[in-house]
Amino acid sequence: MSGSSFDVARIRADFPILHQEVRGRPLVYLDSAATTQKPQAVIDALVRYYTHDNANVHRGVHALSERATQAYEGARERVRRFINARETKEIIFVRGCTEAVNLVAQTYGRSKVGPGDEVLITAMEHHSDIVPWQMLCQQVGATLKVVPVDERGDLRMDQLDALLTERTRILAVTHVSNALGTVNPVREIVKRAHARGVPVLVDGAQALAHFRVDVQELDCDFYALSGHKMFGPTGIGVLYGKASVLESMPPWQGGGDMILTVTMEKTVYNRLPYRLEAGTPDISGAVGLAAAMDYIDAVGLDAISAHDRELLEYGSRALESVPGLKLLGRGRERSGVLSFIMEDVHAHDVGTILDREGVAIRAGHHCAQPLLSCFGVAATVRASLAMYNTREDIDALVRGLHKVREVFA
Ligand code: PLP
Repeated sequence: MSGSSFDVARIRADFPILHQEVRGRPLVYLDSAATTQKPQAVIDALVRYYTHDNANVHRGVHALSERATQAYEGARERVRRFINARETKEIIFVRGCTEAVNLVAQTYGRSKVGPGDEVLITAMEHHSDIVPWQMLCQQVGATLKVVPVDERGDLRMDQLDALLTERTRILAVTHVSNALGTVNPVREIVKRAHARGVPVLVDGAQALAHFRVDVQELDCDFYALSGHKMFGPTGIGVLYGKASVLESMPPWQGGGDMILTVTMEKTVYNRLPYRLEAGTPDISGAVGLAAAMDYIDAVGLDAISAHDRELLEYGSRALESVPGLKLLGRGRERSGVLSFIMEDVHAHDVGTILDREGVAIRAGHHCAQPLLSCFGVAATVRASLAMYNTREDIDALVRGLHKVREVFA
């Protein structure tokens, strides 16, 4: 098991999906940046909710509806505590990071960004933090500006101040790169943006399964997270926004729950957070996400971070033993991702051979095509780590990569 005191065997026992064979080999799951596996506690919370409490929220006068509402609003409070937001009305449930960014682009963006204005993002963004801003810029006649990355996979912080102009209306940046694992200096970025009066959205998809995030400490205006990247269900995510900023935003989707009164002439909108949550929400997803946060806290984020760091170092060293392998992204601070290319072998061929060995990785552009083009490649192999991974998983990966070398010798 891992060399640290972290009890990874006990953690693995909580994840039933890990205990199976794939193609006749024990499964080695190294694709957690795509989606994490779910502990039994999360699966049980979903089953319990549907077995005992299922009803629609905020509507019924009956007992089940009260219980479902309590579970849903309890989950909101759980998220608030997890990221240390000031108030529950700052927690908006959405489908995931993608929807969170689209919500901000289409409400905050449409109301604050005009012709000739600028939206600043970075070269390291996932497509879900690029395309919504491109769409906004096209809709309102604004310009998309980009903070570049250097050859180590760090943001060019020396260029940030010049890119923040009097026309910049918002800056969006990922906390952790899903393609390289680079951890960006978000606190510093927020400070510099705020000095110019520019609000900041942080894409936290790859952060919360690995280290503690305190939105008040970061002082960001928006923070987006995805349940399925942090041991929770798919289809649930969160947009955190500072109350004062969310209050200034027009609603996005219209429908039930986001209204106080409706006549054919006029609708009076509900208060936060409901104003930004139209229609029946993913109630069970919120319940599952709360259970995932309970699970993470029970294990302890400090211990998880230490385990991550140890495995990442072990993995980086182990991969160096593979002939013709080049790791991408050796930046100042990294988390959870080993991204590499192999000389003369396409990433998809690597992925196929590893799959035959029971090793699940991702091969491709990782929804970060502009970032990969900075490195002159169209695809990488990405092994991504979570709290349930072990040194043995890395060893299996390295054995598989030596097989790749033999096949392509
Ligand atoms: N941002 C980053 C950095 C990601 O890694 C991902 C998913 O891979 C997303 C955003 C999109 O998240 P979702 O598909 O859950 O909306």
